[in-house]
Amino acid sequence: MLPSPLAIDVRRGAIASLGTVLADRRIATEGRIAVAVGPGQGGQIAADLDLPQCEVFQVDEGTVDAATDLGKKLRSGAYEAVAGIGGGKTIDVTKFAATMAGIPMVAVATNLAHDGIASPVSSLEHEGGKPSIGVTMPIAVVIDVDYVQAAPPQLVRSGIGDVVSNISAIEDWELAGRIGGEPVDGMAVTFARVAAEAVLHRPDSIESDAFLAVLAEGLVLSGMAMSVAGSSRPASGACHEILHAITQLYPGTSNHGELAGLGALYASFLRVRHLGWSQRRLEEIRSCLIRHRLPVLPSDVGLGDDDFVRAVVHAPGTRPGRFTILEHLSLSEAEIKRSVADYVETVGR
Ligand SMILES: [Zn+2]
Repeated sequence: MLPSPLAIDVRRGAIASLGTVLADRRIATEGRIAVAVGPGQGGQIAADLDLPQCEVFQVDEGTVDAATDLGKKLRSGAYEAVAGIGGGKTIDVTKFAATMAGIPMVAVATNLAHDGIASPVSSLEHEGGKPSIGVTMPIAVVIDVDYVQAAPPQLVRSGIGDVVSNISAIEDWELAGRIGGEPVDGMAVTFARVAAEAVLHRPDSIESDAFLAVLAEGLVLSGMAMSVAGSSRPASGACHEILHAITQLYPGTSNHGELAGLGALYASFLRVRHLGWSQRRLEEIRSCLIRHRLPVLPSDVGLGDDDFVRAVVHAPGTRPGRFTILEHLSLSEAEIKRSVADYVETVGR
């Protein structure tokens, strides 16, 4: 049995009919609904809703404290459900708060920047770090294509990096299975891989509605993969260790999805060099990132090669217990330095 959302709704104008989705799916039959919105588009979104009696809460920060605060309000308000409307931060805060209050949560995404839309994981800031916290999976996922198209294009494209990084994460998981006997869940791999492959080979990009639908569905499937696995394993390996290291060492650098794509490309390069992985696969990922104007080199995200070396050295420490190609190769700093120089030379445009 798989824990899965009851409804997935990807289309234009989805936000305006949120109340209908909630009633039709019998998620909230009495209209006692809380709505959490981000600071940006919050007012506009609340005005668009067909939920006359809903109570609107504004989420200003993506912190554990903000989420706990919202959780308390939800618990005391006797709501049937809460809808988190916005980007990743608002959705992550609402997922955590809903889990705390024990009510179902509907994720309403206004951009496609990463795969947290439908996942059982919240990534929240806490005491200088950004831990991934296990939460209840959203009961419904609504993606409004109108809002996605109005989001900054760079942000929408970054979701492509996150979904394509699944390919690298799966390789890491299977490596951990071969080397350390870690159980690999075939269903989780199926969801995560199909999501990535669907996006990897498409010639169109975010200007196309058809592409946005595939990207949205890919991100939802990635969330399903994590739900099946019970962890972020199928969508997070060396790629995400490198991204977490960059975020910790150089706060404010680029964004989640862009860094996931860059990390995945470097990890794939290591696989070609050290594990005899297919050069063609590396090229497929590289050309996909370039086609969508996503970063492939440290300099594309404003980092020097030495900064990137430091991040790769630091990466395994960001996720103790997760075995990836980085832990497997366990390269020295001098070897990483040579490998990054080689990488830049090889994948540079
Ligand atoms: Zn990710």
